[in-house]
Amino acid sequence: MRVRVLGSAAGGGVPQWNCGCENCNLARRGERVRPRTQDSLLVTGETGNLLVNASPDVLRQIEATPALWPRARRDTPISAIVLTNGDLDHVVGLFSLRESQPLVVYATERVWCGLMEKNVMARTLARFDAQITHRRIVPGVRCEVVEAGLVMVPFAAPGKPPVHLPGAPHEEDNVGLRIEHRGHVVTIATALKNVDAVRSSLEGSDVVFLDGTFFSSDELVSQKLGVARAEDMAHHPLNESVAALADSKLGRKILTHINNSNPILREGSEERAWVEKMGWEIAFDGMEIDA
Ligand SMILES: [Zn+2]
Ligand SMILES: [Zn+2]
Repeated sequence: MRVRVLGSAAGGGVPQWNCGCENCNLARRGERVRPRTQDSLLVTGETGNLLVNASPDVLRQIEATPALWPRARRDTPISAIVLTNGDLDHVVGLFSLRESQPLVVYATERVWCGLMEKNVMARTLARFDAQITHRRIVPGVRCEVVEAGLVMVPFAAPGKPPVHLPGAPHEEDNVGLRIEHRGHVVTIATALKNVDAVRSSLEGSDVVFLDGTFFSSDELVSQKLGVARAEDMAHHPLNESVAALADSKLGRKILTHINNSNPILREGSEERAWVEKMGWEIAFDGMEIDA
């Protein structure tokens, strides 16, 4: 199985349009911080390509990835899409993929209803039969992604409902994925409130993609970018999650879904040196992994 990182940034990307933080300014000047698009991975199995999340940058990501260019007049090599939660940075791209192209979307019932119910724009994805096919995923239930020739085991990853859908959190708001192919396992767990809750789902993975949104709890506050702490936004700060996983049996360990404020994005930063010393890699757009 092959994994390509299409987008390695959290919501907003790097640089973020309305952000003048140090990292965003460095990225604009082409110095020490690589620009990044929003969270998305492509997992290639036996028979096709599974897109993990449809980010607002999906069109740019497709054009930057020759494996996703059409092979015929009207065609897409994207065999199926899986949504890990209903946040806009993970679902808005679906609406850019509306060109009379049948789509298969794996999502929990909760994420699917949040996206399609009471949303008049969803009609643009239901203009003809089978334009969009929903395949329900349930935490803890193995699911064969026949379109791509992969097996996927979703697991509950404590997060939060999308900001536009307030209400009590639900275990299907945010899922992690264990994706298996020929005995190899790639695990994805982003937008995660507490790494301890998913530790057993990560164990034994050949490759782990973990939430790297914030380095520290007070990252936005200390840079005068906001008032929320990482925990308030349902992200376990990585100075804690990386330390908490120090003894876990994991293969390649990769941080992704990285917010533009995060100091690990800066070449030469102390924080970047620390995560690398702890054995973690920092995802970038275009990164490719064979698993
Ligand atoms: Zn996100
Ligand atoms: Zn910024």
